[in-house]
Amino acid sequence: MTSHSTSRSASPSQVPVGVDPTRPSIARVYGAFLGGKVVYEVDRQVMAEITAAVPEAADLARGNRGFRNRACRFLTQTDIGQFLDCGSGLPTAENTHQIVQRHNDEARVVYVDNDPVVLAHGRALLEDDFRVRMVDADIFEPRRVVENETVRATIDFTVPVVLLLVGTMHYVCDDAAAPRIMREYIDALAPGSYVVFSHFIDPETPELTPIAKRVEDVLVNGPIGAGRFRTRAEVMAMVDGLEMVAPNAQDPPGLSVCAEWWPDGPRIGGLSGAARCIVGGVGRKP
Ligand code: SAM
Repeated sequence: MTSHSTSRSASPSQVPVGVDPTRPSIARVYGAFLGGKVVYEVDRQVMAEITAAVPEAADLARGNRGFRNRACRFLTQTDIGQFLDCGSGLPTAENTHQIVQRHNDEARVVYVDNDPVVLAHGRALLEDDFRVRMVDADIFEPRRVVENETVRATIDFTVPVVLLLVGTMHYVCDDAAAPRIMREYIDALAPGSYVVFSHFIDPETPELTPIAKRVEDVLVNGPIGAGRFRTRAEVMAMVDGLEMVAPNAQDPPGLSVCAEWWPDGPRIGGLSGAARCIVGGVGRKP
């Protein structure tokens, strides 16, 4: 896939069939925070509200995307050649299949999303590679995803898989449902599979909790309608039963701030508060 370069306004004539230009989309808002150009006026309004609440909010998206890229690169050291990327987002310059196929050109990748703009861009940009598929499904219904015909035709669940749920589970507002959904996915995986996971967090400190709460307020109580910043205990419960990889040379196995998960090199300056409000990790199913 190449970088999406189409700049769109909310003009009805430019909006793809099936897309409601009056409703913001988390995929477009997130993509635009990463520098993507597929963004409507209604998305810009949400971005403006988020950055008014927390000026460095784009660091949430940057931290998350950087983590996903490094985690995919890390997992190319395994011999797993099948990846299920749930809630894959708008195609950008560096997508899961490009990262993993650089190391294994036979690797198969299924992207799953339910945003019509993501599906349209994904399909248009993926058509020429038979090892890569874009599936329209609700990722919060794991059984439907795992039993989807295209997913089944591409992914063999009797052998290890890499499952990505990156920057997605915080859009499940029901606190009891979120770990249940994760459990259903993990149960469907063969032993030796890996899960790449990230989630907004409330770091529960006087300095950082207000940052998490301000972004959550815009997301949950605005037109997006979802985006929970859960406590560490709540987030840890979602990767229960996985053997977590150590996130860097200092910390024990577990989740870390996304930007601190095996960073590419030394950093000039500290992390912003927003960057500290999203955590990620990689876990192996024993
Ligand atoms: N995983 C990518 C990453 O980390 O860079 C993109 C994350 S983006 C913040 C969240 C994605 O999840 C969006 O593309 C959105 O459309 C998708 N999504 C949210 N709820 C979904 C659902 N119920 N079913 C399918 N996709 C969903």
